[in-house]
Amino acid sequence: MAAPFHPDLIRPDAAANFIGGRAICGDGAVFDVLRPSDGALLAPLHAASADQLAWAAQDAASAQKTSGWGRMDPRARARLLRRWADLIAADGDVLAPLEAVGSTRTLAEILAWDLPYTAECIRFFAEFADKYGGEVGATADDRFGFTLNEPYGVVGAIAPWNLPLVMAAWKLGPALAAGNAVVLKPSELTPFSVVRLAQLAIAAGIPAGILNIVQGAGHDIGDGLVRSDHVGKVSFTGSTATGRAIMAACAMTGPKPCTLELGGKSPQIVFADADLDKACAIVARAITLNAGQVCVAGSRLLVEASIADEVTARIAALFNAHRLGTTWDAGTTMGPIISEKQLAGIDAMVQSARAQGGEAITGGARASAPQSGSFYQPTLLAGLSADATAVQGEIFGPVLTVQRFADEDEAYALANGTRYGLAAGVHTRDLSRALRSTRALEAGTVWVNRYGRSDDFILPTGGYKQSGIGKDLGREAYLASCKSKTALIGL
Ligand code: NAD
Repeated sequence: MAAPFHPDLIRPDAAANFIGGRAICGDGAVFDVLRPSDGALLAPLHAASADQLAWAAQDAASAQKTSGWGRMDPRARARLLRRWADLIAADGDVLAPLEAVGSTRTLAEILAWDLPYTAECIRFFAEFADKYGGEVGATADDRFGFTLNEPYGVVGAIAPWNLPLVMAAWKLGPALAAGNAVVLKPSELTPFSVVRLAQLAIAAGIPAGILNIVQGAGHDIGDGLVRSDHVGKVSFTGSTATGRAIMAACAMTGPKPCTLELGGKSPQIVFADADLDKACAIVARAITLNAGQVCVAGSRLLVEASIADEVTARIAALFNAHRLGTTWDAGTTMGPIISEKQLAGIDAMVQSARAQGGEAITGGARASAPQSGSFYQPTLLAGLSADATAVQGEIFGPVLTVQRFADEDEAYALANGTRYGLAAGVHTRDLSRALRSTRALEAGTVWVNRYGRSDDFILPTGGYKQSGIGKDLGREAYLASCKSKTALIGL
């Protein structure tokens, strides 16, 4: 059980930019950062000014060269990264309340998963530092060829608000292990916990300037970071609309490569032969975890017609059993929505569903308790056609649509019928069908009889179609943090 804390005692420092090994108060715009759980003011955020952004990028570029980070013995770099990971894993008393108070993640989840996961992700990538230096080409009497995987220099990383520490780890692990410096811009809604990560990096002995943090709005500081001449590669996670803007900015200021992890509308297909106890629990969890604010949230239930009534009733019961509450209440099973704006967007989608003939089997409105804070009832929407707005568009909240299918072909056609292709879930006891589904589904990840965990760091994650370009995790993420040089020597 997580140790409780009093939210008023968690007061993030106003100095939330981190440049050259020091926390710096921004000279740019000032935002009020609110606690999603109760709407209270957490702290003002002092964003970086344009000059401070330029300083952060310049400082990272020179630190990457002068500190020797990119050229040091890769085992030494790996050791520093592992020491950093150990400090993160042991920082539950400070980092976990800081993350919980300012985000939608509960303290219990952070201690049990986010924090150890963040540390383990960095440890995983540390091990790549000395293993993928390059390839040896075909050798012959007259020549010897090889490739060198070299760091870009500075990677610009832009992260969303839904899992602030974990998303930062996905970006920082591969980029730093490959010998880059990183300038990270977290979401302006969840800016503070990553500053602690940067402080722990210094404590671990990672040179100053190798991890800098700039704070501010996306269209301003985020866009400026992408366009900086010092940034050689961009790694982005966020919405598809922002991903397009970032790719355009990369094209106009480079072109420079970018990895884009974008939105999703992932289907969960339940066949009549599935273990229904297990399948219903997985389906319900996949859309209520973090109140549905997960890129791979399983937001469309596709269920074989013969079991549709039973499955729908079971999932409605699981939804109704949730206890909504603050992120620091140990009894909470589903936390808040990140902001009132996000909640209004969720509700607008539910209202559009009603206007298009849909029915809320359960939920369908803001939760009346807890009264302060932004909470939405877990919602199950039936009766919608495949082209309905709520079936096609990412809602990023605890809203599950349900559609019926008659056979496997129809299931795959419905599953593939959106512009997204991030992930898909399949529930069946039929091994052949399970294997067929992995080929039939247009998704970057297909989970069979489980859903949503990316604990196997070696398996990459990323989207098909409008869900993104490139991968996080895996060897792919490490290699995407390197540029490849070919050397060919005449003998
Ligand atoms: P968002 O696109 O609004 O913002 C993401 C980040 O981009 C923020 O830091 C924001 O300040 C910045 N930004 C906004 N406009 C920018 C611009 N023009 N130039 C540079 N930076 C800019 O997304 P969000 O609301 O923070 O996060 C939710 C979205 O993220 C959802 O669509 C979700 O599916 C997606 N997401 C995807 C994954 C994945 O792995 N595919 C993981 C988590 C979240």
